Amino acid sequence: MPGSPLDRHDAVLLDLDGVVYRGDRVLPGVPEAVHAIRERVPILFLTNNSGRTPQDVADRLRAMGVPAQAEEVLTSALATAAMLRREGHSGLTAFVIGERGIREALAGAGVRIVDGHADRADLVVVGWDRTADYAKLRTAALLVQRGARLIATNPDTSYPAPDGLWPGAGALLAAVTTTTGADPQIVGKPMRPMFDAALEATGARDPLMVGDRLDTDVSGAAALGWETLLVFSGASGPRDLTSAEALPTYVGEGLPAVLEPRVAGRFRRAEPRDAASPETLPASELSSKRPGSGPAASKGASAGPCSARTPSEPVTSAWPRRPAWWTWTAPRSSARWRSGTTCGVRAWGPWP
Ligand SMILES: [Mg+2]
Repeated sequence: MPGSPLDRHDAVLLDLDGVVYRGDRVLPGVPEAVHAIRERVPILFLTNNSGRTPQDVADRLRAMGVPAQAEEVLTSALATAAMLRREGHSGLTAFVIGERGIREALAGAGVRIVDGHADRADLVVVGWDRTADYAKLRTAALLVQRGARLIATNPDTSYPAPDGLWPGAGALLAAVTTTTGADPQIVGKPMRPMFDAALEATGARDPLMVGDRLDTDVSGAAALGWETLLVFSGASGPRDLTSAEALPTYVGEGLPAVLEPRVAGRFRRAEPRDAASPETLPASELSSKRPGSGPAASKGASAGPCSARTPSEPVTSAWPRRPAWWTWTAPRSSARWRSGTTCGVRAWGPWP
């Protein structure tokens, strides 16, 4: 019987938007899941948003019914400060494009912030700033040309607001890099400094990263060899697996999956030979063993999985909500494993 993914890890790192909440609404089962996780291992909420302080984030989570303390929050602003502290750089001066979160974090790391038309600064730090204007961007660009080191709290090009996308820290950074040609150091996910700061904050050696984005949460953690749970409650869906650079260890509908017994997925790219593999059940078995299997599944099965296609062809457009190749198998244990095969990614194990 497979255990919960938690059994293998000494901390859980949680992305926020798409994992804990969407917009202003907490996702189903999350408050209970957070409570249950925290009973077993330390928890850390990770956000690339550098505008808010950890207390702001914790207050917002608690208002949604999610138990959270400021000490359990790591923002990209804190990670930026932690990186500078690790490098032994207190006493530096920084010109900041950013809001309260990054300004407080830098001050806490002993960095002195210079404002206005500064002539010199050791650092230019760019984060999310809803008051950014031409004068700030000009000063930042001039300081970089005079030798200031350019740091960005995070690379997010946009901020998802209720009325649409607003420019994110990455968009402001682009103004500075486009002007100067400078190569910035980026702190937030998917870059390493954020994950290093998460280890430092939790004292963990083998954390599980839970996120909703393949290109940041999963790829960043996977690059460090960490296990990941991709939840489908946010940005990335099953079909995105076919084009992902890095694949998750587990997948689940939402955060509560982290508490359920499941096996680690073994994802790999599908190959033409998969068409004849013994794991593919005939349509009759699909129909009898797959709950809710309908005409679409049977039709797909009779056509043969990926048989007429090469892996490079886009094949996801015909997908219903789940991959067409969706089978139930019963290995030696009594647990029921679910496995799915798609034309782009083949997956055994914990498909939700
Ligand atoms: Mg997210």
